[in-house]
Amino acid sequence: MRALLLFLDGIGLGDDDPNLNPFAAARLPTLNALSGGHKWLRTTPRLDSGRAVFIPTDAQLGVAGRPQSATGQAAILTGRNVPAEIGEHYGPYPNEAVRAILAEGNLHTHLSARGLRTARLDAHPPHYLAELERGKRLRTAMQHAAYVANVPLPSLDDLKACRALSADFLGDGWRTVLKLSDVPVHTPIQAGALLAELTRRYHFSLFSTWITDEIGHHRDLGRAIAFLERFDAVLAGLLDAWDDSEGVIVITSDHGNLEDLSHRKHTHNAVPSVIIGAARHQIADQISALTDIAPALLSLFG
Ligand SMILES: [Zn+2]
Repeated sequence: MRALLLFLDGIGLGDDDPNLNPFAAARLPTLNALSGGHKWLRTTPRLDSGRAVFIPTDAQLGVAGRPQSATGQAAILTGRNVPAEIGEHYGPYPNEAVRAILAEGNLHTHLSARGLRTARLDAHPPHYLAELERGKRLRTAMQHAAYVANVPLPSLDDLKACRALSADFLGDGWRTVLKLSDVPVHTPIQAGALLAELTRRYHFSLFSTWITDEIGHHRDLGRAIAFLERFDAVLAGLLDAWDDSEGVIVITSDHGNLEDLSHRKHTHNAVPSVIIGAARHQIADQISALTDIAPALLSLFG
């Protein structure tokens, strides 16, 4: 059994409005096939499309306020109602209380303790890793969960050696934004196939991208559509290379944002969770909120 958690920060289920919601406007054949031909919108119900179960997932967790990254990510990785425990939705970076909860146990530490191999598969730029190391930059909740489990964040070397992918999936941002001319740039099909291959080296892999949330905060519909269409094409490559009997792919998010570009804030919307693979039948019924994902994945590993 293996599991890949494919985490897209800040995507929720919004209205069928192509002027405000890139999930309504973009051409997303792979995503929409996973949800039975429906777009990923608030009107799309829980359903099994034959290869995946699509689950509108509660990110509010009974706590007032707009869901935030630190508590949402910590809920996903620990299975605990972290916003309820600390009394608020908190983010973007975890405070002392959230860090303590992550250190008490998260998917990485629980699975490592069972002798299973866990990894992050998204590479981080050299200056970013150096700033984390020096304490000049705070770790996100996802990064802190890996840190307390001694799971390294992949580096530029890992990206170059195709042991990790870029948060933009293809790697072109490392050339255009970071001005690193010698990193590999993949086609979407290649990136998806590489993700499948890397996942086979571990029992549990986590690929996280922050770009969806960043685009939401900037309210850039054109960029949002382009990035979702890129994700769709990468997912097509991943699903081509993925054998449904080998494990599960879980796509999820921590809170809404990108699906409502009428404002720059997070939303109260449910987020999409999609469970792909034959073993989806063992866990999908357990999942209706962010806190259900970690227990479901742990149960898969016995
Ligand atoms: Zn977030």
